[in-house]
Amino acid sequence: MTPFTERLRNGFGRERVREHAPLAPFTTFKVGGPAEWLLEVSSAEELLRAFELAHAAGVAVTMLGGGSNVLISDQGVAGLVVRTRGGRIEEVGRTGEADAAVTLVRADAGATINALVRWTIIRGFAGLEAWAGTPGTVGGGVFGNAHYGGHLLSELVDHVRLVSRERHVRDVKACDMEFAYDRSRLQRTGEILLWVVLRLRRGADSTALRAVARQSLAYRKRTQPLDTKSAGCIFQNPDPASDALPPGIPASAGALVDRAGLKGRSVGGASVSTTHGNFIVNNGGATATDIRKLVKICQQVVRDLFGLTLREEIVYLGAFEEYQKPSARRR
Ligand SMILES: Cc1cc2nc3c(=O)[nH]c(=O)nc-3n(C[C@H](O)[C@H](O)[C@H](O)COP(=O)(O)OP(=O)(O)OC[C@H]3O[C@@H](n4cnc5c(N)ncnc54)[C@H](O)[C@@H]3O)c2cc1C
Repeated sequence: MTPFTERLRNGFGRERVREHAPLAPFTTFKVGGPAEWLLEVSSAEELLRAFELAHAAGVAVTMLGGGSNVLISDQGVAGLVVRTRGGRIEEVGRTGEADAAVTLVRADAGATINALVRWTIIRGFAGLEAWAGTPGTVGGGVFGNAHYGGHLLSELVDHVRLVSRERHVRDVKACDMEFAYDRSRLQRTGEILLWVVLRLRRGADSTALRAVARQSLAYRKRTQPLDTKSAGCIFQNPDPASDALPPGIPASAGALVDRAGLKGRSVGGASVSTTHGNFIVNNGGATATDIRKLVKICQQVVRDLFGLTLREEIVYLGAFEEYQKPSARRR
């Protein structure tokens, strides 16, 4: 047993710390190799404690939420993988008289988006209901600034609590989070989200909110291959302001993949979904290498045909060649 394993086990209990633990089961793609160390945490306090132990030992930390937007390398992930699993959700305040209908709701990084949606609907807090059915956690949602129906999660964020590489814990207002489509400052800085505070509208009718949630779920069922192993949309939609779109094709990565004739294209056990061009599915037995190769093929074919480069929405964890987007936290 390494000294770090021993310290983790002393801090969290023997049974909670695993060495060389397979990560594939904790991702929606169901692929990827093991974590050198894996620890599951269920609160912001535990997350901070795990990070401090790793920092003191000089061990790299990689965050994993619901694993619904990642492709984990077949070689796995070096260092400590901290998987957030659940956490507190609570109302922490209401704004002043003039703005009395606004409530502030705090959710730990490991709370699932779906649990948060349900929690808010029951209390008649409006704003999140259309997000019903979005897989993953609040941490992953803020990291990638999740989007649905033309809206960004950041539209609801008041502020967040982060811990920096240097172990500074700080509250950061939404306006300082560098939020944009598929973007937050966490991707640049490697900070970890401990919790988020959202601004929601009080006094809504729960039945009406539930109806919106049901519509979203039904729309997802109709348009996405939900019964397969995927990581949702692989590519970001092109930006009409900066990407030169071919005439007659909407600013949709799925439409570009579709028009390029790539639906159904396979590498090993991975194929481009026939339901949704922006989904790659693991048909069983796919490796991360298969999926990565298929991503590259899609990018190449779309580039050759339309002169436009599709950018990944998914995050690669572990070692992949030529990958730029910062995803893992390194000391
Ligand atoms: C069927 C399906 C449908 C989907 N539909 C949508 C959709 O409508 N809209 C949308 O935006 N996305 C969608 N997604 C993608 C995914 O649900 C979101 O991106 C989600 O927010 C990812 O959260 P996660 O917890 O699973 O993150 P993970 O996949 O676990 O991690 C993603 C990134 O976030 C980082 N991270 C996780 N927790 C933290 C933390 N506490 N602090 C710092 N970094 C952290 C990880 O290191 C990683 O880099 C879909 C995915 C699937 C499989």
